[in-house]
Amino acid sequence: KAKASGRNNYHIFDESIQQAINEKALIKNGIREALKDDLFELMYQPLFDLREWRTTSVEALLRSKSAALAGKTTLDIIEVAEQTGQIVKIDKWVFKKACQFAKIINQDSDERIKVSINVSSFQIGQSDFVKFIKNALTEVGVSPRCIELEITETVMMDSFEANRQKLDELRQLGIHIHLDDFGTGFSSLNYMKNLPIDDVKIDKSFIDSMLHSERDQKITKAIVDLAHNIGLKVTVEGVESEAQFEMLRTYECDVLQGYFISKPLSEDDIIAFIQNEKVKR
Ligand code: C2E
Ligand code: MG
Ligand code: MG
Ligand code: MG
Repeated sequence: KAKASGRNNYHIFDESIQQAINEKALIKNGIREALKDDLFELMYQPLFDLREWRTTSVEALLRSKSAALAGKTTLDIIEVAEQTGQIVKIDKWVFKKACQFAKIINQDSDERIKVSINVSSFQIGQSDFVKFIKNALTEVGVSPRCIELEITETVMMDSFEANRQKLDELRQLGIHIHLDDFGTGFSSLNYMKNLPIDDVKIDKSFIDSMLHSERDQKITKAIVDLAHNIGLKVTVEGVESEAQFEMLRTYECDVLQGYFISKPLSEDDIIAFIQNEKVKR
């Protein structure tokens, strides 16, 4: 009996692994097709600066129009792309596309709007990473001052020193570096201390529980003060309510992002959003 159920368990285990493999293969093919047929697009979510009281930056977020990837979240796609190495092609496509948009959105504006771009650790690890970015900026004809990069703590898991130098070089060009999902990794303080960054972006998970947890309020406030004390700005992601917005404002956060301000928007809609904000001011 034990033997039979053992075999049975093995069978179930086998099936679920097989399912995961199939799922991954489907996504992998979907990504290949989307890259080939130009079926990716970018949406842009405002980053609202509390001091200037306006949107000063927009984050580029990957979306797919491919039927093969229907129902898959961006994280599903990114996760597979990182495993297969396809992320390098995706991130390069994203970078160029986002630079082109940075040029468009700054065309007839006196106030600069930056475009904030997520880069995966895999991408930074590429030997041509810095060269690619420099070339893309020149090719598109956009100032590095219009671009921000969002890196996560996993970026620095391998080759810390080599990656640190790459980020330093980009920063010297005038590209701002933001540490995304701050507080979710194992050594956030280490990264805060040793990386050439301009801004920490506090992860949504802190904000979700903040209103009901005095402890999370204190942690958030302490991160803000600590970051400010060492000359970093603080962005908060995932702001969904007015109560959160107001609380984070009293904590003297610099920049807020979230559905309370706006969801990610198409190129045309984000241009209209910023235009409308100007009219209201
Ligand atoms: P992230 O960089 O931390 O981006 C924030 C995510 O939270 C986005 O999800 C955004 O749509 C979502 N979000 C923003 N405000 C709110 C809110 O108020 N409530 C809720 N519930 N969610 C909010 P999205 O677009 O699905 O992206 C997920 C992750 O995928 C990103 O997290 C980023 O790590 C990665 N990603 C997205 N686009 C790219 C890309 O072009 N390249 C790379 N390498 N990664 C990307
Ligand atoms: Mg991000
Ligand atoms: Mg984030
Ligand atoms: Mg996040």
